Amino acid sequence: MNSFYGDYHTHTVFSHGKGTIWENVRRAKEMGLREIAITDHGLSHIAFGLDDDKVLRMRETVEQVKAENPEINILLGVEANLLGRNGVIDVVNDEWDWFDIVLCGYHNFIWPENTKEAFGFWFPALFGNTLHIPVKEKRRISNTDAYIKAIQNNPIDVITHVGLGFPCYVKEVAAAAAEYGTFIELNGKHLCFTDKEFEDMASTGVTFIANSDAHSEGRILEINAVRSLLQRTGYPIERLANYGKRPAFRYCKPREE
Ligand SMILES: [Zn+2]
Ligand SMILES: [Zn+2]
Repeated sequence: MNSFYGDYHTHTVFSHGKGTIWENVRRAKEMGLREIAITDHGLSHIAFGLDDDKVLRMRETVEQVKAENPEINILLGVEANLLGRNGVIDVVNDEWDWFDIVLCGYHNFIWPENTKEAFGFWFPALFGNTLHIPVKEKRRISNTDAYIKAIQNNPIDVITHVGLGFPCYVKEVAAAAAEYGTFIELNGKHLCFTDKEFEDMASTGVTFIANSDAHSEGRILEINAVRSLLQRTGYPIERLANYGKRPAFRYCKPREE
């Protein structure tokens, strides 16, 4: 049995991961996990996004794999995209019912909410990243605000790789997450804040969750960078939402055992 209950951020061939749902589940079982979430990219991702047909097929597969592997629970989730400065994300209305768990993060290659947000939100972030343009204070505040509004207006379970490609004031984002019961992810591939910023986030009382963001089965629960961060800062691993227990998520329902 692994001390980690589950890995809640993994990709499959349904977006741009290499493994199938079957392979991710098999590896999670080998790792001793009791739960795994399949969280491919949200519907507005330009190249890799899901669509309603894919989600249907994924649901069928998940139910099939679940029936054959009763010792591990499988959640069908999504890594939703932030689409604009007002915190709109690409899971809306009935689409929430499609998913057991909803993660949300900023990604470069998305269809923004509308033309106004294409110019006011998407282009500046995209070109700022690509051309490494230093981030102006105004942009950092606006990015922070977008995260906070997304947390306020949507019952998001986890904010993924906070700050990746989207500079912001992480402490303020964490404070909003703490208030609303959203977890801040410590991502095995992308930690986009300093140790000091991590400690600032922790001081808000927010709960962190460690996920791999695996794009191939071999990387499930690959979180060495997170373990190093915790060691450097003296943060107790037991405080992570998915260590030693099932996380009490905001949107994802408690597990029936
Ligand atoms: Zn991501
Ligand atoms: Zn991801």
